[in-house]
Amino acid sequence: MYALTEEPKAAQSKEGADRKVPSYLELLEERDDLQAELTAHVHALPLALVVSDATDKLTMSEWSPQAEVIFGYGRAEAVGRSPYEIIIAPEHHEYVRGVVREVMASSSTIRATTQNLTKDGRRIWCEWFTRAIRDHSGRVVRIIAMVQDITQRIIAEERTRLWTSVLEQSAEGIMICDPQLRILVVNAAFERITGFKESEAIGMTPRILHSGCQDRAFYQQMWRSINENKQWRGEIYNRRKSGEVYAQWLTINVVCDPSGQLTHYVGTFSDITRRKAIEARAQHLSQHDSLTDLPNSELLVQRLQELAVTARRGGQKIAVLLIDLDRFNNINDSMGRRAGDLLLQMVAQRIASTVRHSDFVARLGADEFVIVLPELLQASDAGGIAQKVLNAIHAPAMLAGQRIVISASAGVCIFPDDGVEPEMLISNAAAAMLCAKRECRDSFRFYRREMNEAAAESLRTETALRLAIERHELVLHYQPQVHLTTGAIVGVEALVRWNRPGMGLLGPAQFIPIAEECGLMPALSRWVIGEALRQVKEWDSRGLAPITVAINISASEFHQPGFVDELACEIHRHAVEPHRLELELTESVAVGNVEATTEALNRLHRLGIRLSLDDFGTGYSSLGYLRRFPIDRIKIDQSFIREMTVKPEATQIVRAIIALARSFAMKVIAEGVENAEQLAALREERCDEIQGFLIGAAVTPDEVCSLLRNWSAAGFANRFGSGSGHDD
Ligand code: C2E
Ligand code: MG
Ligand code: MG
Repeated sequence: MYALTEEPKAAQSKEGADRKVPSYLELLEERDDLQAELTAHVHALPLALVVSDATDKLTMSEWSPQAEVIFGYGRAEAVGRSPYEIIIAPEHHEYVRGVVREVMASSSTIRATTQNLTKDGRRIWCEWFTRAIRDHSGRVVRIIAMVQDITQRIIAEERTRLWTSVLEQSAEGIMICDPQLRILVVNAAFERITGFKESEAIGMTPRILHSGCQDRAFYQQMWRSINENKQWRGEIYNRRKSGEVYAQWLTINVVCDPSGQLTHYVGTFSDITRRKAIEARAQHLSQHDSLTDLPNSELLVQRLQELAVTARRGGQKIAVLLIDLDRFNNINDSMGRRAGDLLLQMVAQRIASTVRHSDFVARLGADEFVIVLPELLQASDAGGIAQKVLNAIHAPAMLAGQRIVISASAGVCIFPDDGVEPEMLISNAAAAMLCAKRECRDSFRFYRREMNEAAAESLRTETALRLAIERHELVLHYQPQVHLTTGAIVGVEALVRWNRPGMGLLGPAQFIPIAEECGLMPALSRWVIGEALRQVKEWDSRGLAPITVAINISASEFHQPGFVDELACEIHRHAVEPHRLELELTESVAVGNVEATTEALNRLHRLGIRLSLDDFGTGYSSLGYLRRFPIDRIKIDQSFIREMTVKPEATQIVRAIIALARSFAMKVIAEGVENAEQLAALREERCDEIQGFLIGAAVTPDEVCSLLRNWSAAGFANRFGSGSGHDD
């Protein structure tokens, strides 16, 4: 052991001066003892001692027992060999040579860390303290090194480095505090989220983040959980340095030392502002209608529940108004869904801007809206608001470049008088709305108990009506139309009736509005068309004089996609000449897309089907379309005929209508002629044809047969006088 070959300075301590000078042999003996003792101490150190020569090979001459512990090679295996051969990892040879050169050139201890191999093939990390030993001339004769295995330390350091980089790169903010809650460590995400720099946060307490949004109780509960469970997690609102309050998801963990003493609090948190915003949006979407952004039925029920609680406490009333657009499907069918959507958005806006801010407006679905008026002083106030809303809806509007007028019907139901449960309030308001719709559209009704019975009845009617067609309960009756000059029956109008079991023959007024509302019109209409065409064929086969059959087509049927094609198909199927069929349309077909209506009417006209305008004078009376539409005949509404003989204005109107028709080369027929006086007046006005109880009410097909067979035009002329009527 060359390190020990030098005279140990301790041996020359001044203590020695007091003692007698030892003999040379004694000295040698003492020296050997000392060396042995020192060697034993060195061997007991956790560092290994390796000595080698100064050749390139570094042949080893000393290999302490600790070296064996570290590298696995016994002294006998190592001494005489080169460390390059057995313990230095090949890729480190070059590095080690560099270190050796440095050691040879230096008089101080060189420290180096290398990767080494053990006898059993493991790779370990070692730290070397290496010095050169020189002879008197300064030549390096030996190289001595103390080595320790630092693999565990390197692994630990590596882990620490990894963890540090993970913490630094973590998207979650991390904050470590001491037991006094002073911030010790924060990461980059902490800086990013809170806006506080590390230097500003260290030494402070998490109070710098407080927003004041949580109360004392919140923090008390939080600390209770931390103390009891060593953990707390939850949502919390904190404040950024900028002052902005944000939501974060926070986890606080307690770290203890092995003795169980609390050493640190670790808080990890993420900024959930965006997530909260998305959640809030999703929540909003789930409770609002996407078209109008009004609350939907779910939110309506929730709101009604809340309002009911407050109203009950204050002894107040709440009004629930249910509003349903009249004939909304006409718009959808004739102008397209997009226009329908725009209309609903417009109506939503009109409703919202009519009511007060504290009132609650929701869309129930389709064309139904609900307004809740809280804090109502008296129930009757709701009527005024209902009327205001209906007026707002009724105001003319531009839709897809066209001026349209729509109306709505409303039902009003009062909490707690008419119900307390939200569902009950809504359904009672709906019953009142239906009642308004049946009795007179564009109006509102207050809920009455009997209305539910009426609503239930209409539901029963609807159910029965659905089955009526397949059970052959519908029948067509036909009302004759007579030419005034010739006195001949020129046609009949098909009028549908429902032979409802147990209830007798129902007129169209009792079921057509229901069919319109519940979407049964297309099926009903298909049946009427098919049946009328079949009947024409049957009369023909019985050898009757060919007459025209007029069929009533409601605006909603007319606007059904494919209506013209289907009709053309049916006519062809029944092999009926198209001019034998007449369609009675009302002026309301002109509402909506005039282009599409004109196009459909032109197609019908080209097919040879006759067209007439029913109930003329009662509708929109825009003369513009009269000129554009290929109409063959105008039917003067019966209300004018009824008044003709009583009110001079009615006669003037009839006269004007006839003049108008003439100018467009259209025929005129008067409806609802009940007596000879009316007939005489019409003759005076040179009306072409008449229809009414005076000639006969609508009758069964068989009765039509006998009527046609027994009809005498001359007899008619005799009875009512052919007068001075014109002839064409
Ligand atoms: P409308 O097309 O104006 O038919 C004339 C209505 O007046 C018929 O009533 C008829 O019975 C009645 N009427 C005829 N002559 C007189 C009279 O001299 N005095 C009085 N007071 N009334 C008379 P109805 O059959 O009850 O039909 C009512 C309405 O139902 C019809 O009015 C028509 O708009 C509709 N309708 C009838 N059948 C159908 C159908 O198959 N399809 C469609 N869409 N509507 C139909
Ligand atoms: Mg008619
Ligand atoms: Mg009519």
